Amino acid sequence: MDRNESAPAIVIKSERHGERDRMVTVLSPVWGLRRVLVYGAQKSRKAVRAPLYTEAVFHIYNNRERNLCSLVDLNIISIHENVLSGLEVNLSSSLMCEIIMDQRGGEAPAYYTLLTSCLDRLDADNYQLVVIQFILRALALAGQGLSLSACPVCGRPYGADEILGFSNQVASPCCHICDNLSGSLILPPNARRYLADSLALELPQALSLGLSGNMRRRIMRYMIRSYRFITASALKSDAALLELEGDCQ
Ligand SMILES: [Zn+2]
Repeated sequence: MDRNESAPAIVIKSERHGERDRMVTVLSPVWGLRRVLVYGAQKSRKAVRAPLYTEAVFHIYNNRERNLCSLVDLNIISIHENVLSGLEVNLSSSLMCEIIMDQRGGEAPAYYTLLTSCLDRLDADNYQLVVIQFILRALALAGQGLSLSACPVCGRPYGADEILGFSNQVASPCCHICDNLSGSLILPPNARRYLADSLALELPQALSLGLSGNMRRRIMRYMIRSYRFITASALKSDAALLELEGDCQ
């Protein structure tokens, strides 16, 4: 039976759909990931629009026979205009949305809270910290959290000053003996402490931890590269973000 449905959601992808319309993908704590057709969004000035990163209560019409949801109206919660303030924040936002698509919505309520909180706090001064915290927490939600206290290959607890390597057999950081990437993805002890300590905090507190500019860049690079190894995913924004940091790897 067809019906009208309403739920909070955020637009994480927006594509052209024919000449006049757009197809948006929203993440909702109620619906998970859902594709919603926005009629007339390309052409008509009167059409209700739902640009990328719009967080709102979405009112949709669910035509079950045609397996098609379309947008009726929305009540804006936030348009996250801070995301348009620069290339860094823009790429950071794209990366976070790509990861949610990559995880197919996963634990939708938790991802929704994580994404909207990260977007709310994102700015040109802290985008590296936001990306670090987002990936760290998204991996934990996916059950693929980094092993930061003991080696997942040999089981040995890490020493306080141990530099971790990475094992692509278990897709996790590991001790230097079990490293099978020849030291190409290493995690120094101070960075490991930051990751472990910050993950135990709520997001706002984690984002307020002090970290030097150099450490931010290095840990963000580490998190992006770890995500690639752990999930074997091909994202688009990650390479662009690394390139921006002066790193083409
Ligand atoms: Zn080991």
